[in-house]
Amino acid sequence: MAEAIVAKNLFKRYGDFEAVKGISFRVKKGEAFALLGPNGAGKTTTVRMLTTLTSITSGEAYVNGFNVKSERLAVRLSIGLVPDVSNLYDELTVRDNLLFMAKLYGAPAGRVEELIREFELPAERKFGKLSTGFKRRVTIASALIHEPEILFLDEPTNGLDVRSAKAVRGLIRSLNRQGMTVFITTHNMVEAETIPQRIAIMKAGNIVAEGKRNELARLVGKSTIVRLSVEPLTSSLIKALERFKPTFDEGSLVFNVADIDAFLETLMALRKKLNFRVKSLCTELPGIEDVFVELTGGCPCRGCPL
Ligand code: ATP
Repeated sequence: MAEAIVAKNLFKRYGDFEAVKGISFRVKKGEAFALLGPNGAGKTTTVRMLTTLTSITSGEAYVNGFNVKSERLAVRLSIGLVPDVSNLYDELTVRDNLLFMAKLYGAPAGRVEELIREFELPAERKFGKLSTGFKRRVTIASALIHEPEILFLDEPTNGLDVRSAKAVRGLIRSLNRQGMTVFITTHNMVEAETIPQRIAIMKAGNIVAEGKRNELARLVGKSTIVRLSVEPLTSSLIKALERFKPTFDEGSLVFNVADIDAFLETLMALRKKLNFRVKSLCTELPGIEDVFVELTGGCPCRGCPL
């Protein structure tokens, strides 16, 4: 099974209010996927449905191949969840919190020591006395106690200072590199830029766009800036690249490219034909924030005046 999560036409109603309005998406095994949206878009509700914490009004969802409606326990045992507000106990030490989680999930005590080592956790300190950054780190570790295949994280860096947020993002990326499927919700641009391979943008209960960062950028017609430095820079090369309308800046050729794939293919073909060496090639994609503003008509950060 190549798919970790399948959501088909998911709806969630609270009374007359439709929080999630029939969304569909798929997440591949080993992928890092983000639901990006402003407050109230329906991200947490979606995570709560996928992790069996709230019922699905209509539609279907499969997590690790298990039906979220009819195989709830199997779903729960195969996933880890890091909620936005930690579910650990302030009065217990880090080790006792992890031992308690290990008991709940039937994990061996050795797993606790493994996580303490791997995540460099202050085992003897009370959870309530830790900094917010360390609390998040311990909460992530505790969600991994039973070695789940998918990790769900709801707004993983919310409330963290810049340094702790960076550390948590690094931790998530490293888990994903080790093969863990990661599903995050976020309204934070840095997170959306740095963690996921694929992003679904949510607005008022709907997914308004989905794809890789460059696909989303293309969707709103944003181009990529390419800065190229070659040796030797000949007039035949400049002529051959004329259709991409080069400009010059400090010895580099600069292009505003709508289709980066076509540009790179042309460049590679020319390299063989004209025999030049690429000294450097930098691409600058439009930020996901540009895409977000264009697609949703607003900035996703809390309290932003846009
Ligand atoms: P945030 O970042 O603020 O958590 P979100 O995208 O995660 O935003 P949700 O928490 O899923 O959004 O909420 C979506 C909508 O559903 C909001 O308008 C919210 O007020 C509403 N909602 C969420 N939970 C309930 C509930 N239990 N009863 C009624 N309405 C709810």
